[in-house]
Amino acid sequence: MKKLESWLDIQENSDFSIYNLPFGIFSTKEKTARVGVAIGDQIIDLSAVAALKHFKKLDIPMECLLNDSLNDFIELGKKKTNGVRKIVQELLLKGSRKLRNKEGVFVKQKSAKMHLPVVVKDYTDFYSSIEHATNVGIMFRGKDNALMPNWKHIPVGYHGRASSIIPSGQNIVRPKGQSKAKDATKPSFGPSKRLDMELEMGFIVGKSTKLGNTIPAEKANAHIFGMVLFNDWSARDIQAWEYVPLGPFLGKSFASSMSAWVVTLEALEYFRVNGPKQSPAVLPYLKTKGKQNIDIKLEVGLTPPKGNENIICKSNYKFMYWNQAQQLAHHTVNGCNVNVGDLMASGTISGKSESAYGSMLELAWMGTKPIRLDDGTTRVFFNDGDTVTLRGHCEKDGIRVGFGEVKTKILPAKK
Ligand code: CA
Repeated sequence: MKKLESWLDIQENSDFSIYNLPFGIFSTKEKTARVGVAIGDQIIDLSAVAALKHFKKLDIPMECLLNDSLNDFIELGKKKTNGVRKIVQELLLKGSRKLRNKEGVFVKQKSAKMHLPVVVKDYTDFYSSIEHATNVGIMFRGKDNALMPNWKHIPVGYHGRASSIIPSGQNIVRPKGQSKAKDATKPSFGPSKRLDMELEMGFIVGKSTKLGNTIPAEKANAHIFGMVLFNDWSARDIQAWEYVPLGPFLGKSFASSMSAWVVTLEALEYFRVNGPKQSPAVLPYLKTKGKQNIDIKLEVGLTPPKGNENIICKSNYKFMYWNQAQQLAHHTVNGCNVNVGDLMASGTISGKSESAYGSMLELAWMGTKPIRLDDGTTRVFFNDGDTVTLRGHCEKDGIRVGFGEVKTKILPAKK
């Protein structure tokens, strides 16, 4: 890739390099919620750039930029949204003076509040990491039939709850619910004792379809606007008791946390890699060609109430068995329509090594291998007051494109 240099001061290890330029929704004391682009430790107010007539040839309606979600902007289509990204990149290149000293264009990220980037009307969660599915299978069914017979034929998924998706920085409250301990004769009610994370990535649908239509796997990437970090909070004790036979319900729906910046698929193109070999061969409608996985380095930090952050997991999105194109093709193969802003999450992203497991369930192996933190305490699931931070970035040949973080503190259950 051609090396680009900016006139703007951007830290070398910034997730928000000139190659990235992700979209998000921000507000400040002076500015109402609106569309911004992250660059270094700043945000570019796109409405201010539009007011300087830089998007004139793209004909971007100002209402799309002065909006509290990206949905209308995404709806304009990739030709326009990528056009905006391209123009912003050109304006930031060394030699361009057009945005220098222009009032109102740049906002410091630390003085802005970030909002949920999209209005998510529908949220689907897949289960596409073979390492995660195998680990959970071993725990619940034993080594011999860890993977269900359908798993290598279908990108398994379920319909999640969109109303409780929250932005990075918003605390969660420990959920209460029904559970039944293994040796108990009847269920009990109370705060979850097994509150867990799920390290996931999500993609945002960028192009709607009509009911009855399908998205072929080879055209799926054109329907994906971009990606976010996603923490699919899970109360394992509630989940274990309720999930038979229809799957996850209240053990999942109390909250899911999403990162603030949507990194476009185009910014991730350079970091594509081949996925794991799929064997047995998948059905024709799920066949994809070329590099469908993306090398996104992921980590999870756990900060105890009075301690420092401990990195408890390092994984990678490239490990996924099923790719996004297959997920979207499968999701629509029955004619189910999708809408701009829909969120499709990957499922927990675990790797082969024990330090690459994307949930506490796996990291502490169902409570049997406590994780020791540097403040001397141990965890098998999360405590009240813990802060969990997911991070992700791509890096190749000195070029970095990242997602920032999704950070959440756990508050005690309501009395
Ligand atoms: Ca999940």
